[in-house]
Amino acid sequence: MITPPAMTFREWNGPLTADLVREPAKFGLGQVPSRLVPDATTKAICGFCSTGCGLKIHLKDGEAINLTPDPDYPVNIGTACPKGWEALSVLDAPDRAKMPVLHGKEVDWDTALRYFCDTMRGILDKHGPEAAAFLSTGQIVFEEMAFLGALAKFGMGMIHGDGNTRQCMATAVTAYKESFGFDAPPFTYGDFEESDVLVFIGANPCIAHPIMWQRVLRNQRNPEIIVVDPRFTETAMAATQHYAIKPKSDLTLLYGIAHLIIRDGGLDSAFIADHTRRFDEFAVLVADFTPERVSAETGISAERLVHFAKTIIEGTPRVSFWWTMGVNQSHQATRTAQAIINLALMTGNIGKPGTGANSITGQCNAMGSRLFSNTTNLLGGHDFRNPAHREKVAAATGIPVERIPDRPSLAYDQIIKAADEGTVKAIWFVATNPSHSWIDQNKMNRVLDKLEFLVVQDMYCTTETAKRAHLVLPAAGWGEKEGCFINSERRIGYSPKVRRAPGQALADFHIFRLIAHYWGCEDLFRGWQTPESAFRILQRCSENQPCDITGIEGHEMLRKSGGVQWPLSREQGSKFEVSSFKERRLFEDGQFYTPDKRAQFVFDPPEAAPEQRSEEYPLILMTGRGTSAQWHTETRTGKSAVLAKMMPEELMVDVNPVDAERLGLCDGASVRVVSKRAELSAKLRVTTCVNPGEVFLPMHDNRVNQLTHASFDPHSRQPSYKHSAVRIEA
Ligand code: SF4
Repeated sequence: MITPPAMTFREWNGPLTADLVREPAKFGLGQVPSRLVPDATTKAICGFCSTGCGLKIHLKDGEAINLTPDPDYPVNIGTACPKGWEALSVLDAPDRAKMPVLHGKEVDWDTALRYFCDTMRGILDKHGPEAAAFLSTGQIVFEEMAFLGALAKFGMGMIHGDGNTRQCMATAVTAYKESFGFDAPPFTYGDFEESDVLVFIGANPCIAHPIMWQRVLRNQRNPEIIVVDPRFTETAMAATQHYAIKPKSDLTLLYGIAHLIIRDGGLDSAFIADHTRRFDEFAVLVADFTPERVSAETGISAERLVHFAKTIIEGTPRVSFWWTMGVNQSHQATRTAQAIINLALMTGNIGKPGTGANSITGQCNAMGSRLFSNTTNLLGGHDFRNPAHREKVAAATGIPVERIPDRPSLAYDQIIKAADEGTVKAIWFVATNPSHSWIDQNKMNRVLDKLEFLVVQDMYCTTETAKRAHLVLPAAGWGEKEGCFINSERRIGYSPKVRRAPGQALADFHIFRLIAHYWGCEDLFRGWQTPESAFRILQRCSENQPCDITGIEGHEMLRKSGGVQWPLSREQGSKFEVSSFKERRLFEDGQFYTPDKRAQFVFDPPEAAPEQRSEEYPLILMTGRGTSAQWHTETRTGKSAVLAKMMPEELMVDVNPVDAERLGLCDGASVRVVSKRAELSAKLRVTTCVNPGEVFLPMHDNRVNQLTHASFDPHSRQPSYKHSAVRIEA
């Protein structure tokens, strides 16, 4: 009944990503239609994940007909994952939104925009500025994100707006801000190749960030690769050490490793004394995390804990720590991310080649959203509550300062709660599909159905959220418009328009310009004529911030240079040469962005996850990425016939053989997965990739979030998708 783990992913999830990267044509990727011969090539950045791969787009008569990975781009060096290869084909889907749709009927843009403005204005006038909100995305270019945030808040008078990056990166933002003084991922992808020890915590880059994993494979230093994950993932299979901890015991484990590093002489005392704060208090906390206690709470033996700590001590000064959703999406996510940061600080593994406490972002423009979406941060990483920041942004944008709210937005879950309570009556969703992706989905859908006005602006009219909308505004997709993304290593890359959008779909940027016109506030946005002019405004907003990009000479410089990592101040820009600015990391001088320039140890004791096993629900459900061919709610990847061949045909729930035997179920059985909130049907996949008492479902199926328990990290407000109690029935 047990399938050997080495076979698991290949048999069940299709070809391994490494095979796809080596021989893409074998899997039907990157085929040029035989009747078309490209007559020109231009360059773009992939619009799926935060890796930010460079692509060469091959054109016929000015229209893209095919693409290949860019061998000269410093991120991916000539490779792409299946999603990137198929980026053009998903634009041709028959369910593209081609006309505005109002109450189920196609209407012209004039009718749609009048209705949008009249209804939104009516709600705001009647109920005040907190009655309407926008929820956007890390999938659109940051010039558009910034325009949306500026238009909604400065032009239309809303207070609240957030993005789906709350589901993905909010924890890293909060952790970095508290620890480093600014939301500043310190690394460059070169660190994958420069490390002697790479520690992946709650991260499965083989599947979720396959091109980053290719960078790990280029490491010539024979590194130790440590994976901390309850599941025996593809990355864990490739690692030299795998720690299959009990779900959500990661904070305890990290404190235990800190305890051992102190005990076994692994501290960089000079770095701690010169560049950090609150280490002594942290040492008091972790003194209680003895190997015996940590072993009992994590399921990892004391000997293996000692070996883990020893590997870090011996690997210093070239140890890098990498985390993603397994950490970010949990009930104590911020403190867990900071426990990782603390390990890097106490060992001095930061600001040097092959080091860092490195959060890998999710969406192609998650970092752009963090800095420029005007949601919880004022444009350019500023603070809405700070009068000097409001004055600065007013001067940079030409917006009267009194139009800038003096408080940040509610977080996503708080906006939804306010909608549930009736205070928020209208929500404008842009390029996101929360009816599928939000935690405790049935509750979310009940709230969406309560709204007086639900607007969806998206590429496709068939998303679960668009089907519930009163008004759908058809938007152009990646490749059908221009602008910039900021990837995980802070690299800003430019992506051009290489296709015409179908029907009357418009670039989000143009939709915002039209709304400004119909709302009557276009004068405020006369500087926002094109994505490039918006880029110039945002450069001014960034001046003297850690993310200063005033030294970038517009889109043209990004096109020519292979992308530029922030910061690039005016002074740095004057000395810019591609070779010397190709890969840069932060904190090389040990100076952080806090007032005293010291990084701070931040910590709290671990707490149990809110929903625990019970007699009725004896299994812990974890959710996550299924295959490297799938992206989030599959709004786009679900449209590709080539990608479809690389995904399982049915929803599979991974269950350990011990549990399968206890339940009397065999591999392939049809089962129901039941939580307190809902149930769904799936096929049983019996595998040792999950431990007894734990099950796994991929998040791409639109029913999976009916099961998840809605809890949130108190600091980042990020939902915890990784710990819900369920049972399995035949
Ligand atoms: Fe696109 Fe990410 Fe795949 Fe690169 S790894 S091709 S950025 S989806």
